[in-house]
Amino acid sequence: MTKAVFVTNINEIKHLKVTCKSCGYAMQLPINSPFSGNVQVCPVCNAKYSLEDIKKFVNSIKALRETLRANENLILEIETEEKE
Ligand SMILES: [Zn+2]
Repeated sequence: MTKAVFVTNINEIKHLKVTCKSCGYAMQLPINSPFSGNVQVCPVCNAKYSLEDIKKFVNSIKALRETLRANENLILEIETEEKE
């Protein structure tokens, strides 16, 4: 069976979607503007979590974009497969 492959250039990423496993509450974290604070508790169900590592991931994406802007010979894309 052939699966569809989705290709996203790193410069096209607008948001990260973060979902609370307990209640399904979803947040969109923008890549281009910094998100303030460090949510410790789900605003809906009060499940505890930290966004600290996700913030680091967002900052890594920003740093990668800067590196790629300075290096015209590289394109970075993320490939994902269609879900079964
Ligand atoms: Zn929740």
